[in-house]
Amino acid sequence: MNTKPMGPMPPEYADQQGVLKIAGRRASDWAAAGTPLFVYDPAIVAARIAQFRSAIPAVDLHYAIKANPHPDLLTAIAPLVDGLDIASAGELRLALTVKSATSISFAGPGKRDGELEAAITAGVTLNVESEGEASRALVIADRIGRTPRLAVRVNPDIELRGSGMKMGGRPSPFGIDAGRVPALVRRLISAGADWRGFHIYAGSQALDAGAVAETQAATVTLAARLADEAGAPPPLVNLGGGFGVPYFAGDRPLDIEMIGSRLADTLAKRPTVLANSRFAIELGRWLVAEAGVYLARVVDRKESGGEIFIVLDGGLNHQLAASGNFGTVVRRNYPLAVTDHMGETMVETVNVVGPLCTPLDRLGDRVALPHVEPGDVIAVFLAGAYGATASPAAFLGHPPAIEQVAV
Ligand SMILES: *Cc1c(COP(=O)(O)O)cnc(C)c1O
Repeated sequence: MNTKPMGPMPPEYADQQGVLKIAGRRASDWAAAGTPLFVYDPAIVAARIAQFRSAIPAVDLHYAIKANPHPDLLTAIAPLVDGLDIASAGELRLALTVKSATSISFAGPGKRDGELEAAITAGVTLNVESEGEASRALVIADRIGRTPRLAVRVNPDIELRGSGMKMGGRPSPFGIDAGRVPALVRRLISAGADWRGFHIYAGSQALDAGAVAETQAATVTLAARLADEAGAPPPLVNLGGGFGVPYFAGDRPLDIEMIGSRLADTLAKRPTVLANSRFAIELGRWLVAEAGVYLARVVDRKESGGEIFIVLDGGLNHQLAASGNFGTVVRRNYPLAVTDHMGETMVETVNVVGPLCTPLDRLGDRVALPHVEPGDVIAVFLAGAYGATASPAAFLGHPPAIEQVAV
């Protein structure tokens, strides 16, 4: 049976030998509390934030909480970032427990009237996604006697080259086509709104620093053009994010030092209409993906048609992304390990599957691992983003995963 490669283990775990430790504690000890289990290490998130601050010091850092909204993790992250980006009334409630309203911005299509009202009442910035939504926000603000903080989400006529998920440069449910933005900005300002600026998001999961830098430069140019046409300098330009993490074999970490130096050049040369603007980058997975490990216990080991199947007590019901069914075109293997056999010789090629009655529930396709027996614990790395809350936990009625944040 030919072996298929796995993605690279995050640097914090790559050199561990013998037993896997997460936040200094043996994975098997974490797993003793019950599996399946996610463990998040806030120290790894803090290290990523520190790396961002040193590479890109002049730009605000926002955390897009949909990547991982676990309340304890959010409590650890909130004081280290300048803003939180949210996309629902549920995330709004959560964000307000850890951050002041003026540091929160609310994007996403289809905001309901109740969500608009909650956001305006709280005083968070709404990134409006259509002219219709802008009109509803103005009516609601008028009715409740508040000045709404409104930014305009732009559907840019640029896209992030090489990004895993393109969100610009085409017809889109997100944002307002760039050509119609200046008129809307003028309308918001004349209606008395507190216009906060632009939100321009061109893509996600990019590993090519040159492409990110190019997109950021084009985003700054676009923001300047729109501001000129609107006749209004934006207080904030949210440049989007799109910083990717290496999930798969051959992926390399994003060179954020290069992004920082190119962005510094771009900002130094920016048009005068942006002279007093602040700039922000909003990140989800780049901050949290590598800080999470999903641990599942081996229930069965079986053979079929000459292949070995290692069956775990959890799978795509908790960690959909690792099964290749969350925004990937071709299924590839995330990095996996046997927690008490780190660094051992890979002696067999196995399929690692979850307990669900669907062939989609495969976490490792023909991966090389040390010998695995029932009772062993398998670690799936890069589980800190789009894991527990982005997976169909109710599908097939297994219990939800436990989530623990290391302290
Ligand atoms: C999802 C999302 C993010 C976070 O994306 P990552 O790929 O996790 O960094 C940031 N901004 C917006 C508008 C989003 O929709």
